[in-house]
Amino acid sequence: MTKIVTLGEILVEIVAEDQGDGFRRPVRLVGPFPSGAPAIFIDQVAKLGQPCGIVSCVGDDDFGWVNLARLGDDGVDVRAVEISPSFPTGSAFVRYRDNGERDFVYNIKNSACGQVRWTEAVSELLEECGHLHVSGPSLFSARIIEMTTRAIEVVKGKGGTVSFDPNIRKEVVRDPEVRTALTAMLASCDTFLPSGDELTLLTTAGTPEEAISEILGLGVTAIVVKNGAEGATYYDASGPVSAPGYRVEEVDPTGAGDCFDATFVTCRLQGRSVQESLAYANASGARAVAIKGPMEGTSTLAELDDVRSPGEGGPKRRLTSLISRGRRGDGHKPASVTSVCSAHPTVVGAAMRQAAVDGTVVLIEATCNQVNHQGGYTGLTPAAFRDQVYGIADRAGLPRRQVVLGGDHLGPNPWRHLPAEAALAEAEAMVAAYVSAGYEKIHLDTSMGCQGEPVHLADEVTAERAARLAVVAQAAAGVTDTSLRYVIGTEVPVPGGSVEEIERLEVTRPEAVAATLEAHREAFAAAGAEAAFDAVIAVVAQPGVEFDDRNVVVYQPELAAELSRALTGMPGLVFEAHSTDYQPAGSLVRLVADGFAILKVGPGLTFALREALYALDEMATALTPDWSERSLVKVMEKEMLDHPGYWQPYYRGTPDQQRLLRHFSYSDRIRYYWAAPGPQEAVRDLLAHLSGTRIPAPLISQFLPTLYSRVTSGELDPTPQELVLAAVGDVLSVYADACRPGLPKKPAKSAGPTLEMP
Ligand code: ATP
Ligand code: MG
Repeated sequence: MTKIVTLGEILVEIVAEDQGDGFRRPVRLVGPFPSGAPAIFIDQVAKLGQPCGIVSCVGDDDFGWVNLARLGDDGVDVRAVEISPSFPTGSAFVRYRDNGERDFVYNIKNSACGQVRWTEAVSELLEECGHLHVSGPSLFSARIIEMTTRAIEVVKGKGGTVSFDPNIRKEVVRDPEVRTALTAMLASCDTFLPSGDELTLLTTAGTPEEAISEILGLGVTAIVVKNGAEGATYYDASGPVSAPGYRVEEVDPTGAGDCFDATFVTCRLQGRSVQESLAYANASGARAVAIKGPMEGTSTLAELDDVRSPGEGGPKRRLTSLISRGRRGDGHKPASVTSVCSAHPTVVGAAMRQAAVDGTVVLIEATCNQVNHQGGYTGLTPAAFRDQVYGIADRAGLPRRQVVLGGDHLGPNPWRHLPAEAALAEAEAMVAAYVSAGYEKIHLDTSMGCQGEPVHLADEVTAERAARLAVVAQAAAGVTDTSLRYVIGTEVPVPGGSVEEIERLEVTRPEAVAATLEAHREAFAAAGAEAAFDAVIAVVAQPGVEFDDRNVVVYQPELAAELSRALTGMPGLVFEAHSTDYQPAGSLVRLVADGFAILKVGPGLTFALREALYALDEMATALTPDWSERSLVKVMEKEMLDHPGYWQPYYRGTPDQQRLLRHFSYSDRIRYYWAAPGPQEAVRDLLAHLSGTRIPAPLISQFLPTLYSRVTSGELDPTPQELVLAAVGDVLSVYADACRPGLPKKPAKSAGPTLEMP
């Protein structure tokens, strides 16, 4: 097997835990992490089982030893790494800025790696070497440029090959000495591995196409252009080959390019095809960005295989890969997921149509009160609710594998009038029922006190109870099912919404999140549920958004800035925001950008449904005046007065105010009434009545004005079913746009569901 060697800096990276600018004030740091582009490269080569070594120099200090130990353990030949008695190992302090850029404090040139010399060991190592890799930033001194040039001569002299990653910014290229060195490397390499616009940096050509022919003209046999999350494209004399990137949660971009290079070069030397090598290299880059720490994300072949085909049918790790907290400003957009928290079949159907059109998955969640092993207030067990949702998916033409189910606030809440032990036993049975029925996203909420306990329990007690439920969930999932994901934390009102009018909204304190997380880590470990803790993807936090029956509190990013920054210290985690209903589109976009990657919405969707139905009711009256006798509004009013349990305790005010709230409140408690027989029949009646007539466009303009232009342009059929689905779909679109910025929109016409009745 060909031995791969590289030459250059070995250093440690020390990272600020909080996002922000620079290091002019004390900040909390984490590290030392083994680092240095050549070191990351060669560690990745070693992990793929290829013989390899590095030429470098470290200090006689712990920063040096931490690197030598890591590289040695992973299988890198380190005999040509000299240990300097008088210079310290290089270091880089890194701090992420809010916009995704990074501030650095380097000690490289004047550290041990600047002292690298051509020793006996270097000659020996290069004697065995068949491929040399060069990284642009390693060429930081005349002596290193000279050593690299000599190494290339040695390797090429024996018929070996050379790869080169410029890895360099425009400003650096202006330095004539560096430019000369880089240009010389380009001319002497076989494989050139630039990233994005580095392709044209060393050519006279201005366009990528011209640059490619110019570089191939120099004798370079292969060019691989890395394009971040998009993947990469390979060029040689016979034309381009592209391979898409893998969707992952980007938590730390450092090292992606080096892992990519190492994997591509190794796979090619191992005789794999260009296509397969690109796929493995993309998987390697993807894994590198998904793991915090520069060298922590190097991968074995098995780990790369897992990225390439994650499990049967694709549900595995699906949630994790849906959510990504983009750190780099441009080109690396954050992605998130909408959680549809509604059991109304029309709402669920509209969400499924959206997913079918966008080609995404749809996340549908039920709460502990709504659906549980005893039936909940809907009378549905988790399995029955699942089947109902699957039925809607089937009718909407959405493959079932594109449906992700979740359980919300799972814990003792429905049984909190019982003593804690009894309530927890029910909670365990409920969690087991959810997991056995295939729900993949489990929100554990055990913060509420049971009989004789305080309303809110201490973090430790909450965590201990959550761990207990996690143990049950893990057992129900079985050892082979790795798709289960947990959400913890409860900085939100109880399921069903807050009773009080909002007066003051407390944004979650970062310390509270840290404490919740730490308490859960400890409790899960004590319960032997470490695997469940590793599967926690999100913490519920209050970003400062809420609504009550008559107010909506709109997101104020500056109030959540500190909370948002706290995510930096929580690798692999995002926030889940509840009650995002009625937020303006811009606020949703900003929430996603700030790390609130799971956006829950429920009442806002049934509110839009009710609006559309009421609008149809008005149209029916306009068309047939005696319709007012059968009016839907009247039926709903009667239903709510006959059964006041779902609104009376919640709506304060004069009888007139209560009447208005019954129909039009943001809390939308009318949603509990749609499933009753009277309202069901009334809705069916209304739709049937209007289906017989063609609704004149001016009526749509009058009563559903936001849909009017789509009707007149022919995009939307003015049938009552389509109008209702479009009204709900418009709310979902706002979420889809916030969660998947730049998602290519397919034409909106699809064989959608009919208006599903509860
Ligand atoms: P570096 O910051 O290490 O120099 P680079 O700029 O050289 O990185 P990129 O183009 O950012 O290189 O990334 C290299 C490869 O890593 C990409 O071609 C891709 O395969 C993978 N990659 C990078 N970012 C992502 C991401 N967000 N999601 C998935 N894959 C990614
Ligand atoms: Mg790079």
